[in-house]
Amino acid sequence: TSRIFVQGMKLEHIGIAVENLKEAELLFEKLLGVASYKRENVESEGVTTSFFDCGNVKIELLAATDKSSPIATFVSKKGPGLHHLAFESKDIKSDLKDRKEKGFTLIHEEAKDGADNKKISFLHPKSTMGVLTEFCQEKEE
Ligand code: ZN
Repeated sequence: TSRIFVQGMKLEHIGIAVENLKEAELLFEKLLGVASYKRENVESEGVTTSFFDCGNVKIELLAATDKSSPIATFVSKKGPGLHHLAFESKDIKSDLKDRKEKGFTLIHEEAKDGADNKKISFLHPKSTMGVLTEFCQEKEE
């Protein structure tokens, strides 16, 4: 049997869906021992995000800013909680093409603008054993 020793994609952040951003920030501040370092609106997704730096990984809190937001749907169905894992991509276009060819379902065929100066795209959880998976790549400029 062969084992894989090459390094996989780096976990960039963990997304957590919340109902009330202020409340969630206070709780995660207590939990993690650091304050949120950035709040950012992502209008295309209808969310406000808030980021915590945990050294090797970030925590991204996501709160819906309107009822049609995917986060609003998620929270009303499942309550607040773990929402997605985001892996750092060096070439998001080719990663998306590659995963599609391997049978994963893309929610976004093309990467789009996300929070934190990133291009982002999601793979559908029905093709990833229930784990909503984001690929993200730092924007060039
Ligand atoms: Zn994310």
